[in-house]
Amino acid sequence: MKFDDYRIDEEIKKSIDKLGYKKPTDIQYKSIPPILKGEDVLAIAQTGTGKTAAFAIPIIQVLHERKLKNRPDGVKCLVMAPTHELALQIHSVFKSLGKNTRVNCYCIHGGVEQEPQIKQLEKGVDVLIATPGRLFDLVSQGALNLHRIEILVLDEADHMLDLGFIKDITDLMRHIPKKRQTLFFSATINEKIKKLAYSLVSNAIRIQISPKDPVAKNIEHAVAFIEMDDKRFFLEYLLKEHSDKKILVFIRTKVRAERVKKAMDRADIITDTIHSDKEQAERNLCMKNFRSGELKVLIATDISARGIDIPDVDYVINYDMPESPEQYVHRVGRTGRGRQKGQAYSFCSSEEKDLLATIEERLGKPIERIEISKNDYQYTIESAVDKSQDWKKLMKEVYQEDLKRAKKKNKSKK
Ligand code: AMP
Repeated sequence: MKFDDYRIDEEIKKSIDKLGYKKPTDIQYKSIPPILKGEDVLAIAQTGTGKTAAFAIPIIQVLHERKLKNRPDGVKCLVMAPTHELALQIHSVFKSLGKNTRVNCYCIHGGVEQEPQIKQLEKGVDVLIATPGRLFDLVSQGALNLHRIEILVLDEADHMLDLGFIKDITDLMRHIPKKRQTLFFSATINEKIKKLAYSLVSNAIRIQISPKDPVAKNIEHAVAFIEMDDKRFFLEYLLKEHSDKKILVFIRTKVRAERVKKAMDRADIITDTIHSDKEQAERNLCMKNFRSGELKVLIATDISARGIDIPDVDYVINYDMPESPEQYVHRVGRTGRGRQKGQAYSFCSSEEKDLLATIEERLGKPIERIEISKNDYQYTIESAVDKSQDWKKLMKEVYQEDLKRAKKKNKSKK
């Protein structure tokens, strides 16, 4: 199957070509035809499968065909996404694909001023990509009318539930016409998600991509047993060994993220952190630098990095074992995007072995082990530059930075 075989406008095909997509991915192959026909879709698709284009291509086609007029009439398609980063990323896919069409799209999310968003909405928007919180605020204030929505997309619905957006979503449904096309995307499925999905879609085409092996085939992933206090030495070693590579490091908490950054600073390794305590502008800049490759190593917590698509991430490192198999799948899915190859390493300490067992049980097979001999283990610790065992000092520094950031945040809110 080629994109040429679809009933898609030449202008859109040109944009697809420009993005370098040669043929549809599995999820695109399965979703594009039913979406073009106006059917509801319920798709369980792992990350990095090309799911954004799977809904963006047919939506742009359908709206482009419609020869849109009367823009101020209202938004025609609403895409809800859990995080700012993901919303911005979906927006950029819509912009690239819809470049030569009449379809205009816009993105709203919290953490920035509302006024410019309201002005843009007044001018008219065909496709609106939004996080549920800000969307709900604007609808409640009467600044946004959803009564013309024809297509509703929920992306990463499982993550929206994790973040507690269920109430915003159900409240918003009261403002969206019942007669509409609904496209529901989730990376994982459980009873709660099924309940939400079935309350929204009707007679949906169900699509499930590789349910047996949720980690994409092009990702090589392995685990090494490293004790908690030694992890930073191994990270230092890996980052130095692969200094030309783009590396995304996952850490469980914001405090630990800052602490590890400090340890890498001491070893003269440039890194940056992204987490929810940072200002939106800081987060955007950090993402921009990582995306462009100016920043090689990004240390992230799960919330901030879920679903985001950064091109060419060579390695994902789970500095902390993720708390759930779903998180594992999401984290390692940040590398090996589309048809590229990727590698993921997990550092597992004695305390985390039960987390590893749960992940393996869900994956249905063991994760490859990286055997580190006693000598190599010792050598890695001894050759590390950052030998500071003074964790209390490190923690104090982190605390002071957190305090500074909190004060800055409070000041800007006043
Ligand atoms: P997504 O799952 O939407 O986050 O997409 C993951 C990555 O796959 C993105 O970097 C896309 O640019 C890329 N991608 C999407 N569709 C294709 C395609 N048909 N061929 C190659 N890469 C693609």
